[in-house]
Amino acid sequence: MLRQLLESGEVEDEISRFHASVEASLSEMSDIREATLSEMGGGAARDLTSFENAPSLFIFDTQTRILSDPSMLRDIEAIIRDKKCNAEWAIKTLIEDYQARFARIHDQYFRERLRDIEQALTRIQSHMVHGGEGSRAEFDEPVVLVAHDLNPADTLRLNTSKVVAVVTDMGGKTSHAGILAAPMDIPAVVGLHDFSYQARTGEKLIVDGSAGVVIRNPSQEQFYAYLKKQLKVRYFDEALQAEKSLQAVTQDGARINVRANIESSGDIGSLAEHGAEGVGLYRTEYLYINRATLPNEQEQYEDYRRVAEAVAPYHAIIRTFDLGGDKLPINGGFIDPEPNPALGLRAIRFCLEHPVIFKTQLRAILRASAHGSLKIMYPLITTLEELLAANVMLREAMEELRRDGVPFDEHIPVGIMMETPSCVMIAPELARQCAFFSIGTNDLIQYTMAIDRVNDRVAHLYQPLSPAILRMLKQIITAADGAGIPVSVCGKMAGDPVYALLMIGMGGVRELSMDVHSIPRIKKFIRSVSLEEARRVAHSALDLGTTGEIRRHIVSQVGRLLVDGLSSELIENEP
Ligand code: PEP
Ligand code: MG
Repeated sequence: MLRQLLESGEVEDEISRFHASVEASLSEMSDIREATLSEMGGGAARDLTSFENAPSLFIFDTQTRILSDPSMLRDIEAIIRDKKCNAEWAIKTLIEDYQARFARIHDQYFRERLRDIEQALTRIQSHMVHGGEGSRAEFDEPVVLVAHDLNPADTLRLNTSKVVAVVTDMGGKTSHAGILAAPMDIPAVVGLHDFSYQARTGEKLIVDGSAGVVIRNPSQEQFYAYLKKQLKVRYFDEALQAEKSLQAVTQDGARINVRANIESSGDIGSLAEHGAEGVGLYRTEYLYINRATLPNEQEQYEDYRRVAEAVAPYHAIIRTFDLGGDKLPINGGFIDPEPNPALGLRAIRFCLEHPVIFKTQLRAILRASAHGSLKIMYPLITTLEELLAANVMLREAMEELRRDGVPFDEHIPVGIMMETPSCVMIAPELARQCAFFSIGTNDLIQYTMAIDRVNDRVAHLYQPLSPAILRMLKQIITAADGAGIPVSVCGKMAGDPVYALLMIGMGGVRELSMDVHSIPRIKKFIRSVSLEEARRVAHSALDLGTTGEIRRHIVSQVGRLLVDGLSSELIENEP
């Protein structure tokens, strides 16, 4: 959210713009309320979600009252007049004021009402910035989007034809602004602390997504140097196009399957373009994010079926929705506010608390499994009991479908994300109860290093080469190998040549899943190394005691292979 200073003559126009957005928000609330009511009165499949939607109706009424509160509207007008700032900034100022005041209230119930106020006010902001919930941010000319923060719902609504790069103050390497910008092939640099306060509309920016560098008003030399770098990358990528369908086989014959991470069934068209061998991770939570009501079973079934049919002859791993943490529906939606969402009721924890929503998704995936090769994966497992409880619901969903004569894959493989330290410690037990592991390095690093993924102030501790992380990876891979189940990697580390090499060298990792644009490079890199070399480098790295030592060791061992545009975070971000 950028602060814009107004001329005196612009203030009244800004206040009118603000009131128009309040009116538009009220009318949107009324439309969503009506749509939700009619959804709740709908057919059998909809009944499954109706109970869960009831709290949303209450939220709509509360928000309507807040949006109509004359004293709050007057407060915002006063901020616009006093500070001569844009309305979005005035709303942000008022939200911060409320946050400070509510922080002093001890009663939990009243403290939580802050969330209602925040949601109502961000709805007005959203109207001012995007023109409402269903619409997309429109720009007339190519822009670098600079924002304090971009939540998943905002990012999904970017009109990418005009956004050439994204820069945010908040976020770490694996926060969702970056994850969502990747398939759109937009360079993103996140975690620049207070950049949005310094940048000015209209100034020139260079955004180097691979090195995490942003330069304001570059000199002519900088401009030409980066132009050259951009052209080199483009040239290399175009050359790679010719090889995209070649398999990733190491020099000594180990075949590595390279699959795609997708955030929407709409991404499926780009798989063949980049040589992806199926989908290693479908982040289904994005189906739930950019909307006010829950997707029903039929809608989800059609979506997963599209994916199942499109990936043939490969398979797709459908991860059950991982909501919570920094992945929240628009304006919070049906997720209750939490003081510490990264450690809260996220992913499988939320699903087990909301069996109706979870089972709706499981039924949809099972039905889609009759149309192609699908696997189910549960996110954020921390205990064996969670895996078993999720499987109980899966069996119930299967039983219901069998009873109704609905076809599905009776042998659908069920695996889990390995992304918490606790599941590393019980990996052998988990491996005996599931069909595969997929390592989520983004969260594994977040939870092992105790850093919030979206907090730019601790982003320096996102250290894939920390001995703690490497040893955890090794433990997971050893447990999977011991139980004879496949283990893949689907976190950001999988898309970096050096990290991919290390993980392959640690044991039985023969599948990597990543954003589609990384696939041709990783395939090429794998073709240029041997499994023997990967094993040697991984083995010696595991003996070292600090991130710095490991980094230096790896650069000395494989730095020579990072040529011809095969960049690695390890080299690009060298301290
Ligand atoms: C991960 O945590 O590494 C992962 C792939 O899941 P997500 O980024 O969606 O949390
Ligand atoms: Mg994760």
